[in-house]
Amino acid sequence: MTVTARQVPLLRLDNADPALVDELLAVVRTVAERAAFTLGDEVAGFEAEWAAYCGTAEAIGVASGTDALALALRAARVGPGDEVVVPANSFIATAEAVSLAGARPRVADVDPASGLLTADGVAAACAASDRVRAVIPVHLFGAVADVAAIAAVAHAAGAIVVEDCAQAHGAFRDGRRAGALGDLGAFSFYPTKNLGAWGDAGAVVTDDPELADRVRLLRSHGERTRYEHLVPGATARLDALQAAILRPKLARLDAVNDRRRMLAAQLRAALAGAPVHMPGPDGDHVHHLFVVRTDHRDALRAHLAAHGVASAVHYPVPIHRTPAYADLGLGPGSLPVAEDLAARICTLPFWPGMSDEDVDHVAAAVRSFDPLGAR
Ligand SMILES: *Cc1c(COP(=O)(O)O)cnc(C)c1O
Repeated sequence: MTVTARQVPLLRLDNADPALVDELLAVVRTVAERAAFTLGDEVAGFEAEWAAYCGTAEAIGVASGTDALALALRAARVGPGDEVVVPANSFIATAEAVSLAGARPRVADVDPASGLLTADGVAAACAASDRVRAVIPVHLFGAVADVAAIAAVAHAAGAIVVEDCAQAHGAFRDGRRAGALGDLGAFSFYPTKNLGAWGDAGAVVTDDPELADRVRLLRSHGERTRYEHLVPGATARLDALQAAILRPKLARLDAVNDRRRMLAAQLRAALAGAPVHMPGPDGDHVHHLFVVRTDHRDALRAHLAAHGVASAVHYPVPIHRTPAYADLGLGPGSLPVAEDLAARICTLPFWPGMSDEDVDHVAAAVRSFDPLGAR
């Protein structure tokens, strides 16, 4: 096996762009000099810009994507005794947010082609339980779920729809942005996301002023005015520093997503004939991750590593099979599509600053994989 000198990491962050780092450090200095660290102008400014970008009436900055999901559920009064439908193949936070709100996740299987929650899956979950009060479609890897169809089923069953948009900033479906399709949208600005802060950050978007008001109360101790505490809330505000860092990055988001679309098309073309399956892209896609499928995933990963190409698995264990959710009692084979995907998916290196050489090196390494030799 040839071991090459070229190394391609899974992704690179802002430190790969020194000009951007300088611009953002100036912004950090401004906030520090004003000592305006909580709420205030930077948070309000980012919220107005984020709402305008998403096409929603309201955006509320919160401390993380997990908080965004949990506070969205709590704002809609989803809690103890209620169930929330979540897809089995998501980051654990989608289910954790349900637990944080005091409700119970009802984990559903997904569409084999797209890997996304479907209206049929939601209908089956609602038929099996009369406790479903919310549904969380996840726009996994940057592909937007059919929220309109899901919402029709959910609303008929008396449930709201909270979109998990942590991987789909700026993606469109039916002429609206991710987050503007359901009753509420929850975003993470974790550093690796399409719009990433320099730490943990998140936001909730909605057109409903009452829900927005409740998220605002809940993120900061249920406080209306100083020491006027209306509900038991949390310390879950968006940091002013993170808001200030996100604003110049938001101005670049469409260009960054265009670059991701362009690179994804380039990588797909370069992978033509390679021994992997590439799903989609059906409709708009903001390519948060570039994920391929193969029956010989672990052998592919070893082969890539030997060629200096990093890889990952998003995610190796479906939510219902994690020790954290063993109490749901969903054994092996209970959600077969998600379990099958977890065994076959492989995330390839992908980030907006990838060079043509990086793309070529990744594609050549995948193409030279021999699945027959792997058996
Ligand atoms: C990142 C992510 C989250 C959680 O976001 P945090 O900001 O890390 O709390 C939730 N759902 C999905 C699908 C994610 O990718």
